[in-house]
Amino acid sequence: MKTTTQVCVIGGGVVGCSVLYHLTKLGWSDVMLIERSDLTSGSTWHAAGGFHTLNGDTNMAALQGYTIGLYRELERITGMSCGLHHVGGITLADTPERFDMLKAERAKHRYMGLDTEILSPSEIRAMAELVNIEGIIGGLYDPLDGHLDPYGTTHAYAKAARMAGAEVETHCMVRELNPRPDGSWEVVTDKGTIHAEHVVNAAGLWAREVGAMAGVYLPLLPMAHQYIVTDDIPEIMNRSTEFPHIMDPGGESYLRQEGRGLCIGFYEQPCEPWAVDGTPWSFGHELLNDAFEKIEDSIAFAYRRFPVLETAGVKSVIHGPFTFAPDGNPLVGPVPGLRNYWSACAVMAGFSQGGGVGLTLAQWMIEGQPERNAFALDVARYGKWTTPGYTVPKVIENYRSRFSVSFPNEEKPAARPFRTTPMYDIWQGMNAVFGQQYGLEVVNYFALPGDPTYETPSFRRSNAWEATRREVLGVRERVGINEVHNFGKFSVTGSGARTWLDRIMAGRIPQPGRLSLTPMLEPSGRLIGDFTVSCLDDETFQLTASYGSQDYHLRWFRMNLDPGDDVRVENISDRRTGFQIAGPQARELLARVTRADVGAEAFRFMDVRRMTVGMADTIVQRVSYTGDLGYEIFTDPISQRHLWHVLSQAGADLGLQPFGMRAMMSLRLDKGFGSWLREFSPDYTPGETGLDRFIAWKKNADFIGRAAAVAERDAGPKRRLCTFVVDALDADVVAYEPIWLDGAVAGFCTSGGYSHWAGKSVAIGFLPVGRIAEGLEVEIEILGEMRPATLYTRPLFDADGTRMRG
Ligand SMILES: Cc1cc2nc3c(=O)[nH]c(=O)nc-3n(C[C@H](O)[C@H](O)[C@H](O)COP(=O)(O)OP(=O)(O)OC[C@H]3O[C@@H](n4cnc5c(N)ncnc54)[C@H](O)[C@@H]3O)c2cc1C
Repeated sequence: MKTTTQVCVIGGGVVGCSVLYHLTKLGWSDVMLIERSDLTSGSTWHAAGGFHTLNGDTNMAALQGYTIGLYRELERITGMSCGLHHVGGITLADTPERFDMLKAERAKHRYMGLDTEILSPSEIRAMAELVNIEGIIGGLYDPLDGHLDPYGTTHAYAKAARMAGAEVETHCMVRELNPRPDGSWEVVTDKGTIHAEHVVNAAGLWAREVGAMAGVYLPLLPMAHQYIVTDDIPEIMNRSTEFPHIMDPGGESYLRQEGRGLCIGFYEQPCEPWAVDGTPWSFGHELLNDAFEKIEDSIAFAYRRFPVLETAGVKSVIHGPFTFAPDGNPLVGPVPGLRNYWSACAVMAGFSQGGGVGLTLAQWMIEGQPERNAFALDVARYGKWTTPGYTVPKVIENYRSRFSVSFPNEEKPAARPFRTTPMYDIWQGMNAVFGQQYGLEVVNYFALPGDPTYETPSFRRSNAWEATRREVLGVRERVGINEVHNFGKFSVTGSGARTWLDRIMAGRIPQPGRLSLTPMLEPSGRLIGDFTVSCLDDETFQLTASYGSQDYHLRWFRMNLDPGDDVRVENISDRRTGFQIAGPQARELLARVTRADVGAEAFRFMDVRRMTVGMADTIVQRVSYTGDLGYEIFTDPISQRHLWHVLSQAGADLGLQPFGMRAMMSLRLDKGFGSWLREFSPDYTPGETGLDRFIAWKKNADFIGRAAAVAERDAGPKRRLCTFVVDALDADVVAYEPIWLDGAVAGFCTSGGYSHWAGKSVAIGFLPVGRIAEGLEVEIEILGEMRPATLYTRPLFDADGTRMRG
């Protein structure tokens, strides 16, 4: 075994082997994998081996598509068989909501280039005659679905990696990980110590333990999962082709042919977490005892859907554990707070996702960033607030809802309320309906008197409609108030702060007392943040951005801090909170609660001041995401309730209207303002999104991404964001709906919703630059319906900015 290496991958399951292969594929050959037993000894050996592309997250779906395409490549390189069965799969819909979801997925697949198809019940029956179609409304057919041999595939990855120079050491356990001052690692194993520049945690069932070796908690939990293989079934034996995969979400089951019988697995409601307090090192190539009692109801349901099962004998039962993160997506990427320690774990569908995870991680390690937006699987989407106490109920909820319809407005209840601001009970007393962002309770809207305090999950307009309308009008006609707790906030201080910010941010860094908006770019020129920078004095700045991306952004800041920079960057997201007030009476309200001069001349649009508001020390910024006259007032959490009392009393006769995120999202649409991870994400560039207008082309700083941004500016982007008014029925655009032009898909939506102010359904989306013109007529496919839409270029509210800037 070698004792020095560029990368030491820990774990020889399908994920570790895929990472190893992709490192070699992208050009690193001084890499090794350490496996404590034989390859596949964790979850991998007992997997059912099914694969599919369907995933609610578009980038995850694309990575799953990549994974499936990879198997032929592995077979070609190694001459080994992955045991591929590309039999196609059908996902059934037995409720209108589920059918809506499948139609929305189908629509997305059009611009992703995936050839899925909506089937009628009789078409389902024609393809899969063993399905009882009673109660079935339709289905989605994916020709790429299939299954493979988990053992053969994992070995094929390992062989392909070895052929390119990688070393694989089995029966060697990693016992300790010790960081060295230069950022590299001492990997202490049974067979000696390895000095590795990078380590990758691909330890699957033991990923928590390998995380703890480096002092980090990775939020994942193993769940016990069971599938049954039947004896031979005559109806299967008589078929001339292999039976397709059937996903029956109503019965929480997946079914496929296995040999001459069938294999069926369940995501049952009475599910069982496994090894909650840690996976024993003694666990190995073994299965858990059969537990039929937890799948009794699921089996009874399956007998009705697949009557042939009732008379089939059981050949074997496979019951084993595999790991999930709280949202069911993998945990991939550089682990925040550590140097050269990479995560490739919580991969719950190794044979759908393992290839994509390997590719993403290898690109991150070798090229500095993955090629597409990887936020949905980025380990940094969970922060230090994530504890086992949170992970356990969330994973159970996720497992149980694996086959549930996921609605765009759905707020799942497990592990809530967890993190709250001092305003929580006050809002609750006002009928607030909350959502959760990054563990934090956030008001979505205030229910109308007599209405339930929950929002009905739906693809169509929900019961929050009237309440949201009331809040929007309260802002536009009087003055509204909501919290600013759900911004990510950073303090940047020191004599080197301005120089550092000029390098990190592409935009102008403001002078004392002023704010600026700026994109943050990675070297390839793609967007990795959109920030408001406030300059309090020449050495004191406050940055605000997305709350959910605070660890993602902090990780980037730390990676780009040199020891010589005299600058201190702190995440103060939860230490600075407060309110936003917005609307035509916002100035009047602020003037009533401070002695500072907040007149239009003294306190201009994009100004920032320290002020005493009531008795509280605050930082007030004259800017508002509502696009209205507005102010963000930041204070510390201890003073927040005081600030509320002062503002609410002073605003009572002005008709102060508390508002939530639903109203905020409607208000920002009036102005066509983009939103992080919707319009602005690492999938897009400044030129494509219009954020190029905030780039300080003339500033005397070589900001990160400059060369790429200049190249884009000179060449011009190929596509650009536009806004549309949609002739919608009862459903508005959410995201990723295709935009049709002249009978073909020409673009896709990034977000949309209803502008209550304008009384119009609005969409934002990409079209090729050459096609963009005021008044252009397009069609947007919403839940399978083609809806006419018209492109417009002037904001629906305050088009010339008089109200916002006045
Ligand atoms: C019953 C069942 C059915 C399933 N069906 C499917 C399916 O149809 N399709 C699908 O895509 N997925 C399926 N899965 C999930 C799939 O098995 C997992 O997604 C996949 O195996 C995860 O692989 P991994 O490499 O991340 O982890 P593991 O397979 O757990 O691999 C981790 C490896 O790390 C090694 N290791 C850990 N710690 C150390 C250490 N300190 N030193 C050295 N080595 C170490 C372990 O020995 C192990 O081999 C199923 C799972 C179960 C339980």
